[in-house]
Amino acid sequence: MTDTKGTVLITGASSGIGAIYADRFAARGHDLILVARNLGRLADVAASLQEKHGVQVKHGVQVKTIAADLGSEEGLRAVDTVLAEDHTITHLVNNAGFGSAAPLTAADVGEMQAMVTINVTAPLRLIYTAVPRFIARGKGTIINISSIVAIGPEILNGVYGGTKSFLLAFSQSLRKELAGTGVNVQVVLPGATGTKFWDVAGLPASNLPTEWVMSAADLVDAALLGLDRREFATIPSLADASEWDAWEASRAVMLPHLSNREPAERYQR
Ligand code: NAP
Repeated sequence: MTDTKGTVLITGASSGIGAIYADRFAARGHDLILVARNLGRLADVAASLQEKHGVQVKHGVQVKTIAADLGSEEGLRAVDTVLAEDHTITHLVNNAGFGSAAPLTAADVGEMQAMVTINVTAPLRLIYTAVPRFIARGKGTIINISSIVAIGPEILNGVYGGTKSFLLAFSQSLRKELAGTGVNVQVVLPGATGTKFWDVAGLPASNLPTEWVMSAADLVDAALLGLDRREFATIPSLADASEWDAWEASRAVMLPHLSNREPAERYQR
């Protein structure tokens, strides 16, 4: 038997941000379940963790890989089943996803639907499986990788922005619903990060001003510092945290005024 700090299930762990999360959680002594489609790349990540952290199958930190397409019902069910049956899982990192830089008229609607499945349906399904189990155990951590486009959906493709806004909104609701259960929710809003995301999105990162682009390592290290501080929303690029607080405060100001029997006076003839 191993004596670790619990198992972290990371989707999209074959590259970029997810692979760095795998490295950092392994360094913290967590067992890992790494999910992505490309088994070869997942195996490379697992091998490099073994080399770097002395990961072994029977002793020390264990790493399992699951080759699954989260865009397919079969792949989703495979990951869901592991999440339901493996009681050692303490952390779920919803990281798998892809984006697009194409405007509506240039974007393929089928690809947009696939984006919604991977960026929205997959985390939704995994959260629905994880949350009741985490509540029953009185502990657990959910990390949702959203994006700054959740705040600025006009920046890239609108469907991509919508999927990341969903993750932010769902996380805000989870924060409220899970208060007092011992289950912790963090939503991470990366700005431009130097990964293959940008190649997939059709706008290689080399097209962006270098001062905009954070390394995946810096991004994840900042996000984990936010997690350690029990921060709900972590925006590693944002220098002045009071700007986020002001945004949250303006929602709180409006909330009591958003439902009324009568239309507001300005809509009355
Ligand atoms: P990445 O290097 O392209 O990583 C994406 C990961 O998701 C890969 O491991 C990929 O693995 C996996 N994935 C994609 N489609 C999948 C599917 N159908 N089923 C299972 N796994 C799938 O890009 P990244 O930047 O690290 O992206 C990670 C997350 O950060 C994404 O949710 C992205 O929206 C978010 N984000 C990125 C940036 C940025 O600037 N890079 C900014 C804000 C937010 P396989 O190809 O092997 O399946």
